[in-house]
Amino acid sequence: MPRSEPIKAARGVRDILPAAIPLWRQAEQGAAGVAQRFGYQEIATPIIEQLELIQRVGEDTDAVAKELYRVEKRGTQNLALRPEATAGVVRAYFEGGLNQGPQPARLYLIGPMFRYDRPQKGRYRQFFQFNVEAIGVGSPAVDVEVIELARSWLIEVGLDKLALELNTIGDDQCRPAYLDLLRTYYRPLKDKLHPDCQRRLEVNPLRLLDCKVPQCQPLKTGAPKITDHLCEPCASAWAVVLKLLDAAGIGYHLNPYLVRGLDYYTRTTYEAIATSGLGAQSTLAGGGRYDGLVKDLGGPDVPGIGFAAGVERLALLLAQEGKERATRPVVFIAPLGDAEAARADQLAQQLRAAGLATEVSFRKSNPGNQLKRADALGARFALVLGDQELKSDRAKLKELKTGAQHEVTLSGFADEVRKLTGGPR
Ligand code: AMP
Repeated sequence: MPRSEPIKAARGVRDILPAAIPLWRQAEQGAAGVAQRFGYQEIATPIIEQLELIQRVGEDTDAVAKELYRVEKRGTQNLALRPEATAGVVRAYFEGGLNQGPQPARLYLIGPMFRYDRPQKGRYRQFFQFNVEAIGVGSPAVDVEVIELARSWLIEVGLDKLALELNTIGDDQCRPAYLDLLRTYYRPLKDKLHPDCQRRLEVNPLRLLDCKVPQCQPLKTGAPKITDHLCEPCASAWAVVLKLLDAAGIGYHLNPYLVRGLDYYTRTTYEAIATSGLGAQSTLAGGGRYDGLVKDLGGPDVPGIGFAAGVERLALLLAQEGKERATRPVVFIAPLGDAEAARADQLAQQLRAAGLATEVSFRKSNPGNQLKRADALGARFALVLGDQELKSDRAKLKELKTGAQHEVTLSGFADEVRKLTGGPR
């Protein structure tokens, strides 16, 4: 590349510029707030993990088989950038002794994940996830708790067009027999399946159900449903999940095609979907129970359930729907000269102490330009401070949206603004 050409960001990754940060924080802070109210504690695990951990948790998923960012070998360890959070969180649960504390360990994590996927709207190579895990208790009541948490988050940040898709995929007692039924059903149809599904038919037939390729869709309709073939413990856990969701007034749509392709996943699987606005990438959060995972990793028999949700997708949707909550300055103060600048700083201090976001103009220009600037910043009020205002202790506070002029005193300014706004934001 010639030296004169500016170097751009790597393909598929993005800067979150200041203008996009408020929405981003809205999604993130909403996540942290809701998680904490549900009794979940934050955990931060490294972005790099040992390759083997990532591979064992994700073998046969695209995120690991095809899209993994491996880190060039340093020293003796093979490392990878995490494509999802569960592997690291489960590792830390044992390594950090959280398995010795009260169970379930209720954990949440917000951080970047990495997948070498084809970039498109709502799909990036570095993206942030809000991840929730409840480890150590197998009760179906925990399934409902995490589903409720995901839903509360999405509603709290401002979404209302949501659907909850729900399914169960049984466990190692009932699933093998069901998979045999599924193979028996699909074998005579093999020629009609697309090549990936032909291959999966013997090795991982559950994945045929979540295939999105058009030619495979009509074949699904006659496929046996796992909910008709659950063992007794899985059937009663499923009944409890549905009963508790009903009792909590949470609507859902049973989707027999919602599956997870890895053996360690058990029972409840779910997705929260945006019913408008995101097109093909409409899944906001997806999760499920993974009672077999810890054993697969060489640990004891410890159940767990969680979900992962994309922060970019949520921010994108909130922006499209105009759900951004204002984080603009409440007051913009424009002093016209040096003496006024000192007074402006005092007023700003008082406003900020009262919890009201305030910006002081450092540019010397006429009142008209100052008001334009206040408008461009999205401030709610503008105060132009001149000699006259200082002398009389009186000023006109302009409300930019409506053009209304409020008579205020400078000595009681913070209180008067607070009254106008109904308190700090
Ligand atoms: P997954 O871990 O694949 O089940 O994804 C969980 C959630 O993370 C999805 O529902 C998306 O909201 C988000 N997500 C997954 N992959 C990407 C990506 N490449 N770019 C942006 N968001 C993603």
